[in-house]
Amino acid sequence: MTVKQRNVALVAHDNKKQELVAWAQQNKALMEPLGIYATGTTGRLIEAGLNREVIKLLSGPLGGDQQIGSKIAEGKIHLLIFFWDPLEPQPHDPDIKALLRIAALYNIPVACNKASADYMIHSPLLHSDYQPSEPDFSIYTQRITPAG
Ligand code: PGA
Repeated sequence: MTVKQRNVALVAHDNKKQELVAWAQQNKALMEPLGIYATGTTGRLIEAGLNREVIKLLSGPLGGDQQIGSKIAEGKIHLLIFFWDPLEPQPHDPDIKALLRIAALYNIPVACNKASADYMIHSPLLHSDYQPSEPDFSIYTQRITPAG
């Protein structure tokens, strides 16, 4: 059985970064087969914490969340672990909303806290040849607009 390479995106708001790094360290072995993308600061901490390569994008407030969203749209990211902070407003709130929208649109599993991340990383589906269904956008892309 060939298991397709899967990539996970990791993002954590400032008050959640230590929690995400500790979670990643606890699950280092299960994360081993996954490529890791991350927003800038989260990525630096994860790289140091796991002592492995992370593809680091811009910091979230500087466009990193949008970069992750675009990689989801390109089919390069298969899971999103996003420890967002429910107690603190964020300057880039519209970008966060956009990232969560794109993940929902492309049928990407999203974990927002340790328990959901635990369920995700321990899922037998993640370590099998399971292929989530790809959304069919043909009705949208082939629609006739009033302008033709
Ligand atoms: P950061 O971005 O990893 O660069 O801090 C995360 C975010 O706030 O979206």
